[in-house]
Amino acid sequence: MDSIDIKREENENTINFSDYGIDIDISVSYSFCQSMNESAAEKLNKLVDKDKDDLINSTQELVRIKSVSGEPEEGAPFGEGPALALDKALEIARSLGFNTTNLDGYIGYAEYGQGPDYVGVLAHVDVVAEGDGWKYPPYGAEIHDGKMYGRGTIDDKGPAMAAIYALKAVRDSNLSLTKRVRVIFGSDEETGTADVEHYLDIEAPPVSGFTPDANFPAIYAEKGILTFDLARNLTTKPSDMRIMRILFKKNLTALQGGIAYNIVPDEASAEIITRTPYLVVAACRNFAKETGYNLTAEVANGTVSINSVGLAAHGSVPYKGKNAVMQLFAFLGTLPLISSDMKDAIDFINAKIDMETDGNHLAWLWRMSLPETSH
Ligand SMILES: [Zn+2]
Repeated sequence: MDSIDIKREENENTINFSDYGIDIDISVSYSFCQSMNESAAEKLNKLVDKDKDDLINSTQELVRIKSVSGEPEEGAPFGEGPALALDKALEIARSLGFNTTNLDGYIGYAEYGQGPDYVGVLAHVDVVAEGDGWKYPPYGAEIHDGKMYGRGTIDDKGPAMAAIYALKAVRDSNLSLTKRVRVIFGSDEETGTADVEHYLDIEAPPVSGFTPDANFPAIYAEKGILTFDLARNLTTKPSDMRIMRILFKKNLTALQGGIAYNIVPDEASAEIITRTPYLVVAACRNFAKETGYNLTAEVANGTVSINSVGLAAHGSVPYKGKNAVMQLFAFLGTLPLISSDMKDAIDFINAKIDMETDGNHLAWLWRMSLPETSH
């Protein structure tokens, strides 16, 4: 679950971020204190503190917009939500006195300073679908015990607002800058960054920059993402059903899980038709006990429904999650399922992926199947 701690301890320069229930203490070193004179740093700290309530309100306004990628519309290439969030971010920037530019609903920016060169601060206002299991409404931006809860509080609406308020503090401090500073609000970071491609078609790139994306203090590069489908035609359907049923084999009839490429799935389910449903239920209970996986099974009209609950995590940190699909596959792999392409696929995925989050086995397979390349 996204939540951001909005308290700053008086004596400790520490901000606590809570991501999926895991507290990470990130030290804020105020490194500029060492390179800048004390009074300038003090001035900036005071200016930041003065706007604290406004920063929280602006973050809440932005979090309350469900900016999940959707169907393209006119002026909203990534759907209505991301476009509304982009408009809101630019509106907030204008209310703080900055000039803003919206590049056709793809991406926009607010800018301050003079000179030919600019430093880019690249944030984004789109979010990944919220999934289930929220303690507080995902688009409520509610504050409990000094933490704001909601999708995008950390990734990346909170940091986007922090960046624009930081630029305001710099402006209000009257410190001289050698370059322009541009806070850029993307709206397609989570699904492909076509927003940045559009930006670079129109605008010159910054001479340097960073992205305040979900971690403090700054990220200067981001991992790429490789998205691919493992597909196969399910030509060999379960056969000899009648005989197999007599042999107490299980027929897997439905399987689903996951909501996006870059989230560890936190929910998965399967349906099995069998003459012995209660054996499957008992096997499921035992398997759950042995492995500690949150797996449950129930019976209705001879069909067993199996439900797997995991823990969602961003695709960049899959080891923080629990993969509900793989929990389910691990259990299905123990059942005497009727031979089919689907059963083969489950066995393959169990053997080659399992609970691995670094793609080690899959990459090995890939290397084996790639033709030799010349250097
Ligand atoms: Zn992000």
